[in-house]
Order: sequence, then C-alpha cells, then structure tokens
Amino acid sequence: PVAEPLLSVQGLHAGYGHGEVLHGIDVTVPRGQVVVLLGANGAGKTTLMRCISGELRATGRIELDGDALGGLPAHQISRRGVALVPQGRGTFADLSVRDNLAVAALQLPRAERDVEMERWLDRFPRLAERSKVAAGMLSGGEQQMLAIARACIGRPRVLMCDEPSLGLSPAMSKEVFEVFEQLHDESGLAMLIVEQNAGLALGVADLALVIEGGRIVWRGTPRDLHDDDALVSAYIGDL
Ligand code: ATP
Repeated sequence: PVAEPLLSVQGLHAGYGHGEVLHGIDVTVPRGQVVVLLGANGAGKTTLMRCISGELRATGRIELDGDALGGLPAHQISRRGVALVPQGRGTFADLSVRDNLAVAALQLPRAERDVEMERWLDRFPRLAERSKVAAGMLSGGEQQMLAIARACIGRPRVLMCDEPSLGLSPAMSKEVFEVFEQLHDESGLAMLIVEQNAGLALGVADLALVIEGGRIVWRGTPRDLHDDDALVSAYIGDL
C-alpha cells in the first residue's frame, strides 16, 4: 500500500535573483514517515526547505494534507504545522534555555504553555540542567536539542531539519538521531531531514531522496540505496 502523502511538493522551481536553483522538484513526505534528503553541497537542499517553510518564494505546488501552502507567509505555514530547524539551529543565543522554549511556546494557548515547556525539559534532562544558561553557551549538541525542542513545542505535523549533525561529534550526532527516532516512534511525527552523514540518516529513514543540481535524481528506500554501488560510493562512502 502506498502511504498517504502528508507533505507534497510538485514541480517546484525557485532560485535567487535571476539564477534558478531548483528545477522542478517533486517530493512527498508520507504520513508518519521519515524522509532523508541527500546531496552534495550546493545541490539545493537548504533552498528546498526554505521554500517549503515559506521563507523563499517558489513556483509549483506545496500542500500539507491536501491544503495549499504556496504563497502563505512563513508564520502561517508554521502555524499549520510545518516546522523547520534551520542549519545553524536558529536559537536565541542571549536568551536562557527556558526563555528560548518560552518564546516558542507563545504560539500555544496560554493555559498549555507551561505544561508543554516542562514536558520538553523533562524529555531533555541536559537542557533541564542548563535551563538558566544562555543558549549561546551550550555545546553544539545541546543547542541542536534545544532547536528541536523549540520546533516541536508547537506540535508540528511535519518536522524539517537541515543538517542536524553539522559540527557535532559522532557521539552527539548519534544522540540527535536517537531523538528523531524516539519522536517518530512515540508520535509518528513525519520528518524531512537533510543530512550529510548518510549512514546515520538512513538508519532512521523510511525513504531517501538524492538531489543533484536542483533535481531529484534518485528516490527509494534506504535498502534500495544500499544495493546501488554508485550511490553508496557517492553518498555513503565506506560505511
Ligand atoms: P549546503 O549543504 O552547502 O547547504 P545545499 O544543498 O543546501 O548545500 P543550497 O544552500 O540550497 O544548497 O544552495 C543551492 C545553490 O543556491 C548554490 O549554488 C548556492 O550557491 C545558491 N544559493 C544559496 N543561497 C543563496 C543566496 N542567499 N543567494 C544566492 N545564491 C544562493
């Protein structure tokens, strides 16, 4: 059975100024599944996520559960349930961990904010221990956890994450992907993850996509990808 699409992108074109970077992209994130987007630097991965989150204008169709998102401002797309953890993490460096969560919780009804913040602090004991510390003082891994918690506090339907392991130690990267796995197991949260560390990402993925020069050039399951020697040598190396 084909899983029902939750997020669907069709025929997306986008770029910067006169230069087109995405040349007709089709991407589907099925309900409850984790999709990993692989591709070399400059292939257009970040640009695609910025289009979906409404930060960058694009032509083509973007739908969440059948509703068009194209043309909506970023805050409305986020309110409808598409969350982006940007590369570089997008936390407020001068605010404490708790205040970073509090800002994210503002999108919830007032009565739910404290409960939801405590829930995320319980879930990340390392953040709870450092709840009064400025986010800028956290380690890279802790900042990534905080960014994920911030994105999840609004109860997204799709979580997009741009290179979550960037700059993290192998152990920390593994921890971050364990968090994704838990989130997915607990709530069936659908995710679109851009990741250079293909070995790690494919471990949690239901589906993989490869983007090259602004076009999707391959799609399939992680198992299919492992069977393709050319893709393995291009994207996975000797793992
Ligand atoms: P990376 O892993 O390096 O972030 P990526 O696959 O995410 O790579 P993008 O960041 O989407 O790639 O970049 C795709 C293309 O768009 C590149 O050629 C890049 O130089 C160009 N580009 C990205 N951001 C801008 C910008 N703000 N203005 C002009 N060109 C840009």
